[in-house]
Amino acid sequence: MELIRVAGIINDSIVDGPGIRLTIFTQGCYHHCQGCHNPHTHDIKGGFQIEIENIIKMIDDNPLLSGITFSGGEPILQWEKCAIIAKEAKERGLNVVLYTGYLYEQIEKLPNIEKLLNCVDWIIDGPFLQEKKSLLLKYRGSSNQRIIDVAETLRKKEIVQLEIDD
Ligand code: SF4
Repeated sequence: MELIRVAGIINDSIVDGPGIRLTIFTQGCYHHCQGCHNPHTHDIKGGFQIEIENIIKMIDDNPLLSGITFSGGEPILQWEKCAIIAKEAKERGLNVVLYTGYLYEQIEKLPNIEKLLNCVDWIIDGPFLQEKKSLLLKYRGSSNQRIIDVAETLRKKEIVQLEIDD
């Protein structure tokens, strides 16, 4: 049985992407952004472990979902586990969003990362920067963060950002 370490899971988020979403807050983060809203997610050994199968069941049990979101914490630290869940979500026709404090240009260099990238619709990248914080931005905390259309980025081999009305 495959386990993923999480800080928590909510299955009715309306702020982490379009529609109603199951949001998985992965546990562990090394970025230490000043002003982070989720400092309890930083400890790599904190939170709790849950079987991936149980998360899939939570997805199946909620017919109202438009998609799932990986937030944190830093989901890329457990990207292989996120990829398993993301693949299951895509097979169910759900949209997949992943937040990361890394830049896309850093993530795309990881070996075998296409397993994840092929199953994610949007990556919202970059650390939270207090000096660029804005409450007006949709789906983001600070204006340096980009909403990246992953399929188009893979196709064009250059970063394609989504224009979302804030
Ligand atoms: S990446 Fe996210 S969870 Fe990690 S310190 Fe920055 S804002 Fe907090």
